[in-house]
Amino acid sequence: MPAVIEVSCINCDMCVPECPNEAISMGTRHYEVDPLLCTECIGYYDKPTCIAVCPLDCITLV
Ligand code: SF4
Ligand code: SF4
Repeated sequence: MPAVIEVSCINCDMCVPECPNEAISMGTRHYEVDPLLCTECIGYYDKPTCIAVCPLDCITLV
C-alpha cells in the first residue's frame, strides 16, 4: 500500500525531505510518490511520515 498524493497538493515541500526512501518527487503538476520506492516508512517511523507532516492531509495509503 504505497502512499499516494492527491491533486490538492500545493507543492509546499514539507513531505519531500522527510521521506526516508526519497520516494517523493515533483510530477507534472504536483509532487508524486514512486510506488516502487515507498515502504510506508516501515523500519523508520511508526506511521507514514509524509502523511504526518502534510498540512493539507492530501496523502493517503492506497
Ligand atoms: S509513506 Fe514513508 S516511504 Fe512512503 S512516500 Fe511517505 S514518507 Fe516516503
Ligand atoms: S506535504 Fe502535502 S501539500 Fe506539501 S508537498 Fe507534500 S503532499 Fe503536497
